[in-house]
Amino acid sequence: MTELVTGGCLCGYVRYEYDGELGTANYCHCRDCRKTTGSAFNVGVRLQSAALHLVAGQVKSYTKTGDSGNTITREFCPECGSPLFTRAPAKPQFVWLKAGSLDNPEWVKPMDQIWTDSAVSWAYIDPALSGFSRNRYHV
Ligand SMILES: [Zn+2]
Ligand SMILES: [Zn+2]
Repeated sequence: MTELVTGGCLCGYVRYEYDGELGTANYCHCRDCRKTTGSAFNVGVRLQSAALHLVAGQVKSYTKTGDSGNTITREFCPECGSPLFTRAPAKPQFVWLKAGSLDNPEWVKPMDQIWTDSAVSWAYIDPALSGFSRNRYHV
């Protein structure tokens, strides 16, 4: 990818740039993702944390033990509440980005879905995408 990846929250207080390769993206149907997005599922993109830079604002964070049993820290805009990043302290090299926060969401092509056991009936996703009943990436 030659294009600089940029994005931010709804109000514009938090802005980020990413100069690495976009990693795999997936749909997550777990309960925590449903709660934190306020929607049926989350679309997360795995990034190299060293290549992600906040260029405006600061995030607030909330840490919780996820359904996987791992500690997960979720970061969001303190002004407008938009969820932005998810970090797993056990895997500090990665950060998972909320795909909808990208300036150009078409950069993202979700490859699969996880935690389909928890999916709600009104979360319809292309059944051609492979699914995993629980966690594939152990975060
Ligand atoms: Zn904001
Ligand atoms: Zn999830």
